[in-house]
Amino acid sequence: MACDIRYEEIGEFAAGELPAERARELEQHLRSCANCQRRLDAVRAVDTGLARLPRLLPSPGGLHRARRSLSEVLRRTQEPELMRLDEVAEFLRISLDELEEVVAELPAFEVAGQLRVRRAKLLEWVEARERSYRRSSAQSEVARAFADTIESH
Ligand SMILES: [Zn+2]
Repeated sequence: MACDIRYEEIGEFAAGELPAERARELEQHLRSCANCQRRLDAVRAVDTGLARLPRLLPSPGGLHRARRSLSEVLRRTQEPELMRLDEVAEFLRISLDELEEVVAELPAFEVAGQLRVRRAKLLEWVEARERSYRRSSAQSEVARAFADTIESH
């Protein structure tokens, strides 16, 4: 017997949704068709696996977070890895003039007479600046506290 059984039929058979007459035909066919038997086994294995999955219905907040982190990932992949200086300025939310003041410190490199900055390097640079800013503000806090102590004496 030629095998013209569709996958959907096997799925319906596994779910017990096939009309009785067709189910009997398929049952008979399965005894002589190793191919369909394999397909049925596969369908049943998937069903069993799905049934074992915990019923994890995400909360609305969880869904929102998932969607946000997905769009975050998409946004990141859309941003260029190599940035022009105007893109760097935009990234840092400063003007090109202001960028010029720190351009010598930037982890930039030159290619064909143009400056480019690698996004990953720029992020490292921003982090280093954050650290040094925190350090210096901590120092000035200590200095201020010291000055207060002196004044109160
Ligand atoms: Zn078959």
